[in-house]
Amino acid sequence: MACLFCDIVNKKIPADIVYESATVLAFKDISPQAPIHVLIIPKQHIDNVLGFTPNDGKLLSDLMLAIKNTAKKQALENGFRIITNTGQESGQEVNHLHFHLLGGRKLSWPPG
Ligand code: AMP
Ligand code: ZN
Repeated sequence: MACLFCDIVNKKIPADIVYESATVLAFKDISPQAPIHVLIIPKQHIDNVLGFTPNDGKLLSDLMLAIKNTAKKQALENGFRIITNTGQESGQEVNHLHFHLLGGRKLSWPPG
């Protein structure tokens, strides 16, 4: 099944990569909604949060630590937001799990 983010993982489609490990990739969002807008994804294809299984503990920890390390590398110590849209009503457009890391400006709450 064709997947845009699998193609980015496999380097078939270029991306501005800011972090890479054996299990996780982080790259700049092509349509940034804040001065810093990075997407953090598992290299393995999972549709969204609903695809997690009890065996994904190591992957979850890799993802969360990648988020932390990317936030620090992007100098977001003053604050940032992590969003993962899940399913149709959330507006999820790419069906490969991704965490939006947003920062570099004051973020309003609640989100739309
Ligand atoms: P979502 O609506 O949560 O599924 O978010 C998908 C995100 O992927 C959007 O913020 C898009 O701007 C972003 N996006 C789509 N295509 C690319 C691409 N080729 N490289 C980087 N980001 C992308
Ligand atoms: Zn995928």
